[in-house]
Amino acid sequence: MQTIENTKLSDFDNHKLVVFIHDKETDLNGYIAIHRGSANCPSFGATRLWKYESQEDALRDALKLSKTMSYKAAMAGIKCGGAKAVIISNGRSKKDRASLLKSYAERINYLGGNFITGADVGVSRDDVIVMKRASPYFVGTKTEPVKYTALGLLYSISTCLKEINGSSELTGRSYAIQGVGKVGTELVKLIYPFSKKIYVSDINDKRLVAVKRGYPKVKITNVDDIFSKKVDVFAPCALSNCLNHKNISELKCKIIVGGANNQLEDNSIGDLLYKIGILYAPDYIVNAGGLISVYDEYENGNYRTKRVKKKVKNIARTLEKVIMESKNRKVSVNKVADKIAEQKFNAF
Ligand code: NAD
Repeated sequence: MQTIENTKLSDFDNHKLVVFIHDKETDLNGYIAIHRGSANCPSFGATRLWKYESQEDALRDALKLSKTMSYKAAMAGIKCGGAKAVIISNGRSKKDRASLLKSYAERINYLGGNFITGADVGVSRDDVIVMKRASPYFVGTKTEPVKYTALGLLYSISTCLKEINGSSELTGRSYAIQGVGKVGTELVKLIYPFSKKIYVSDINDKRLVAVKRGYPKVKITNVDDIFSKKVDVFAPCALSNCLNHKNISELKCKIIVGGANNQLEDNSIGDLLYKIGILYAPDYIVNAGGLISVYDEYENGNYRTKRVKKKVKNIARTLEKVIMESKNRKVSVNKVADKIAEQKFNAF
């Protein structure tokens, strides 16, 4: 196996713990990264199951995603640390998948509740229900994190429209959505009734067929063309680093609000977006609805729609403040957000 010098990876940020997980029998292979932890609260972060090109790619993703979770929690006012798990997918059969999930859940038990997890890319709510049978440290079986992630995006889109157009009116707007998995499809569901145009792309044809069946007026777009659509809102809802040095010059949207974590390849992309006048709403602020809802489930042991909705609505207020500070200080929105988040979690 290739050796990785963990601490030399640029995404390593003095993480509390990075664990390699492996089970020969079930072919489990992945990482759990805990960025920050606190004595009073466990670290939260969902589990991703994806076909990584290499062991190092998976580790890098875990390191960066777990760090982002610390920023997300801080901006959502949740005093927990950030974490993430990634499992390297090898296209398992349904039967093999069940044993893989069980062996993964058993490993989560070794962390004794210091890591609380749920569904991210490639993992469904049904998978979480299976894993919860083997470990109490799974969340998202009572609440509906995807629904609240998308709701947070909708509130954030309104906030950005108000900033750009002077009106938060959602009717008649156009969208380009990259990735129509759980979050992307839920966003389509919310905006479909009153949108002018919705372009969607996905690398998985089955997802495209499903979204077209449910929402016939969506326009299926090639994966490489989704960035250049002239729309009000570009919503990245797929994987990390989707806004990068290669595609930034293609963007023709006014606003970027999306569910994907780690949208910016690096912080300079946020600065460039600011310079060219595209309003970028920091991913970890706008997509915090899922975390807010699962943390609520963890805290209260139950699920109350009204209570969660009220908390998710705060996302819009947080975003408004960050945009305002960015304008006042003439600094990119992502830089302002990072600084506030760091101040918050360093004060926990
Ligand atoms: P998912 O696995 O259900 O969907 C992801 C989709 O993206 C899949 O359909 C996949 O085929 C597609 N995709 C991958 N690469 C693509 C590409 N290059 N172009 C177009 N499509 C591509 O995952 P999800 O739960 O919907 O999560 C989507 C994003 O939102 C992830 O970045 C995740 O971390 C983030 N997120 C999810 C939640 C949640 O509640 N599930 C909460 C916060 C953030």
